Amino acid sequence: MEHPENNPEYAGLTVNSGVEPVSAINPYLQRNRFVRRKLSVDDYVNGILAGNVTILGQAVTLVESTIPAHQQMAQEVIEKCLPYSGKSIRVGISGVPGAGKSTSIDEFGIHLLNEKGGKIAVLAIDPSSERTKGSILGDKTRMEKLAVHPKSFIRPSPAAGSLGGVARKTRETIILCEAAGFDKILVETVGVGQSETACHSMVDFFLLIQLAGTGDELQGIKRGIMEMADGIVINKCDGNNVDKCQLAATQFRNALHLFPKPESGWQPEVLTYSGFYGYGIKEVWDMVYRYIDFVKENGYFEYRRNEQAKYWMYESIKEQLHNSFFQNSTIADMLQAQEKSVLEGQKTSFVAAKQLLDAYFALIR
Ligand code: GDP
Repeated sequence: MEHPENNPEYAGLTVNSGVEPVSAINPYLQRNRFVRRKLSVDDYVNGILAGNVTILGQAVTLVESTIPAHQQMAQEVIEKCLPYSGKSIRVGISGVPGAGKSTSIDEFGIHLLNEKGGKIAVLAIDPSSERTKGSILGDKTRMEKLAVHPKSFIRPSPAAGSLGGVARKTRETIILCEAAGFDKILVETVGVGQSETACHSMVDFFLLIQLAGTGDELQGIKRGIMEMADGIVINKCDGNNVDKCQLAATQFRNALHLFPKPESGWQPEVLTYSGFYGYGIKEVWDMVYRYIDFVKENGYFEYRRNEQAKYWMYESIKEQLHNSFFQNSTIADMLQAQEKSVLEGQKTSFVAAKQLLDAYFALIR
């Protein structure tokens, strides 16, 4: 019998067909890493309603985008989320830089989650971000405990656009957060003027954080801002600052009594606390919830939200007219020429403005 090795099938020099060399780059990793699947409007809405914070974050980015296609999509997402929104308490928190907003919000957030459960979102309106293209508020690194809490969502202020635009985006973000099941929304704003009005126009309770200083505590605080406050809290009431804080609280109480009673029928309260040491935090939030019960009872809660909805309708009209005018390329060219003739004294500002507006209305007709 012939030896099997003589059979050509077993010849030692047979070259087997090899296998494909393995790619140095994992093709799956590459696909996942660089090409993110585009989400549809329904993907966003379903993700948000399921409480998926990654998708919520992406939807907020869409709201903040200046690309028209993104804005269009964002509006569709917001519209679909709207029926699921509104079931939260919205609290505005204002104070000058250094007043202790981030320290306090960190404590407030943890207190609320421990005492009331639910989920908390921290948003911000930051007028300085337009200039710095960055945000000083709502930064995760400033709220250490809340930032790592699974039931919290922290988002810095939208960076681009006018204050009106920034505020509108924050308001739209509130709707998305509520649809995602966040039932406590804190809107932080820096205490330097107009941004407070914008913040006030989207919250149920406006909390003003103050510091005890030396001398006249009320100096430098605009009357309008005090009138907006539903509660004033004096922070840093700790160590040898306690007496000064209590004195400041008395001065604020006296000043508030001189104002006419607010529309809500609620007499704004003044409290002292320490965000850093955690003293008096419970009392601050007992006050907020007392207010909410009070205005829900007398109907002001609903009324204020309706008034705010109306206000935002007019704000949106103004913003869109403004954008439509200034983003029109023909108008943009004309603007420079008209500006020049105004500066050179050839035309009055009113004539120049009228000519531009006439041209604009003729263009869009
Ligand atoms: P923000 O700019 O309003 O956000 O203020 P921060 O929360 O960053 O606080 C400004 C400074 O005040 C920080 O150095 C804090 O440690 C300090 N601070 C905040 N809250 C308190 C407080 O309750 N007591 C004391 N003593 N210091 C505080």
